[in-house]
Amino acid sequence: MRSSLGGPRLMLRRLREVMAEPISAQARLDKIVMVIAANMVAEVCSFYVMRADNTLELFATEGLKREAVHITTMNAGEGLVGLIVRQAEPLNLQDAQAHPAFSYRPETGEEIYQSFLGVPVLRSGNTLGVLVVQNRAQRHYTEEEVEALQTTAMVLAEIIASGELQALAESGSAIAVRRSIMMPGQSLADGVGLGHVVLHEPRVVVSNLIADDSAVEQQRLDDAIAELRSSIDRLVDRGDLSHGGEHREVLETYRMFANDPGWTRRLREAVQTGLTAEAAVERVQSDNRARMMRQTDPYLRERLHDLDELANRLLHRLHGRDMVDGRLALPDNAIVVARNMGPAALLDYDRSKLRGLVLEEGGPTSHIAIVARALGIPAVGMVENITGSVETGDAIIVDGGAGQVHVRPQSDVEDAFKEKARLRARRQEQYRKLRDVPSHTKDGVPITLNLNAGLLIDLPHIQETGADGVGLFRTELQFMVSARMPTASEQMGLYRTVFDAMNGKPVTFRTLDIGGDKILPYLRTAEEENPALGWRAIRIGLDRPGLLRAQLRAMLKAAAGRNLRVMFPMVATVDEFDRAKSLVEREQAYLARHGYELPDKVILGVMVEVPSLLFEIDEIAARADFLSVGSNDLMQFLFAADRENPLMTARFDSLSPACLRALKLIADAGHKAGIPVTLCGELGGMPLEAMTLIGLGYRMLSMSAASIGPVKAMLLELDANAITAHMNTLLAGQGGVATLRPMVEEFAHSHGIPV
Ligand code: PEP
Ligand code: MG
Repeated sequence: MRSSLGGPRLMLRRLREVMAEPISAQARLDKIVMVIAANMVAEVCSFYVMRADNTLELFATEGLKREAVHITTMNAGEGLVGLIVRQAEPLNLQDAQAHPAFSYRPETGEEIYQSFLGVPVLRSGNTLGVLVVQNRAQRHYTEEEVEALQTTAMVLAEIIASGELQALAESGSAIAVRRSIMMPGQSLADGVGLGHVVLHEPRVVVSNLIADDSAVEQQRLDDAIAELRSSIDRLVDRGDLSHGGEHREVLETYRMFANDPGWTRRLREAVQTGLTAEAAVERVQSDNRARMMRQTDPYLRERLHDLDELANRLLHRLHGRDMVDGRLALPDNAIVVARNMGPAALLDYDRSKLRGLVLEEGGPTSHIAIVARALGIPAVGMVENITGSVETGDAIIVDGGAGQVHVRPQSDVEDAFKEKARLRARRQEQYRKLRDVPSHTKDGVPITLNLNAGLLIDLPHIQETGADGVGLFRTELQFMVSARMPTASEQMGLYRTVFDAMNGKPVTFRTLDIGGDKILPYLRTAEEENPALGWRAIRIGLDRPGLLRAQLRAMLKAAAGRNLRVMFPMVATVDEFDRAKSLVEREQAYLARHGYELPDKVILGVMVEVPSLLFEIDEIAARADFLSVGSNDLMQFLFAADRENPLMTARFDSLSPACLRALKLIADAGHKAGIPVTLCGELGGMPLEAMTLIGLGYRMLSMSAASIGPVKAMLLELDANAITAHMNTLLAGQGGVATLRPMVEEFAHSHGIPV
């Protein structure tokens, strides 16, 4: 009987009855441990719950001394139970006392029990408690019994997650599951956001754990797996990169896992213990998540994540149509939480309800970070396992400046952040007061502060910040937020609206910078091994001139009677710029032939963001009307360090001698050629970095709206001559160090410059 499958199923049915009884939470737990002990023919069954202080408290027992309940506690690092927490895996011992981790607790009276089987109580990979059975005799618990105990642990996980046990905990202690936690990450966009969690990819909430009919559940599982396999096959066969931005390699991994006999066997076994198909998937997924959280090898972790993603897909299939898309049911103060997402996905959310963004991945120069900044949404990236640590609707605070997230904050933390948000608003108010203060350094050197923009929502920022103009208009954003290719007249309409909003201030349009991570769902492109180094930006523009010409024509028409400033992204050779220029000339000639009014002046610039240009900088400066440094890409290519890869984020510093010399070389070349040089990467919007750039000779910077105030406040206190002399000295003598940041910081502090 012990190893037959009737046992666990009967046990689950019995548990379901207990769950439905109108009794107190403690009485329910007492009954549950009794049912488990009886069913498993164990003399002891004990249930420990993880508390917020990282100790385990005995919540119920059958067989150990009852007086120990809510009295016995142990550190999560202590004893066999602690070992289960650390490993998040079952522990099956014939002779428990011989195990080195065994720790003796006289109040429980457990010294007489020899065999021990304990399993973690897991939910979304988090260990919420431990469930143990013990026998006096040396007994070997079978695989089926381990499985059965894990299944019942799932029922207990639901009870813990429901919060009903909080009232039982020893006075003054909180149980861990709904505890307040501060999770560190990296700052992506400044600001403070208070709100409630919206999972970008909502988890299916499995509410029905215990099967009415296991044969029916088995069939549902088999059907869902078969459907999942064929849907993945279809995606792979299409070879369609653009579908949700998935890479073929990832799909191949999904396919491999979906056909892995080990995975399907584990799912089927879980159903055989009496779970519904959904609960079986969640059980196996939770084990997998627990392994993923303990895995330090990034490759294996990634694969475990793929398996997690696959389980999600399977759950969604089983769940059918009931999935609620987070974007549809958005609360008024939404904090979007995702593993990662593209810029277009963020723009799909209703901006008026968005209060923050939290990602497990995403570095500060990733495009999602840029869009978050453009939208003025506080954002934090690289928060480990955030998606597994929160539930939809949880209260959450995003501290964009500190790069921290507070999940389910205590009321005093919440009050402190409300105060912080108020202070910030006041500071913004002071920055706003600087709006009309002329932007020049203490020694009178004028510094042009421009905005980075790309969407209509950016346009009011020109007035609000008092920016001198738009230094980078990312035209691809219009394409990324659109479900189909914007028509020529739609493009022209947008550019005209931009000109009108500028009130005569200059705007620099950048031609389409798509490819890399900026994928247009409706534009099929071939799959690439290294998209950042691949067919993107001006490369597509020159190879498929139809697209670029249509865009240039839209710009020329929109600029009728005004000055048109255009720059080209990712130019790697002088010849590419020459060809782009001649496309503009051709379009001008075409429009002139057809009687269109032309711009007064066409000013053509080059983005310096591919390092090859550093070695032809004089030639390019001789041809261009201006240079604009794309420091985000320039840094990634200079250091061969993917700007989207979180592991690379802190590896190289933009204030390293190599970087600063490259930046100085560009500024010097521009001055020599007598053309303006500007910088429009994220670097320009950080006060310390902006101060350094002024020291290298930059007199024009372009940044997100929120940066204008802080950068202006910095430069109003800065002596341009002093920083220039300081940078010259540093660069002349300080090669060989990883970064000059400490020296630059020291300069700022000793001169009282707010950075
Ligand atoms: C850059 O590369 O620095 C830049 C401004 O362009 P983007 O971030 O859009 O690539
Ligand atoms: Mg770039």
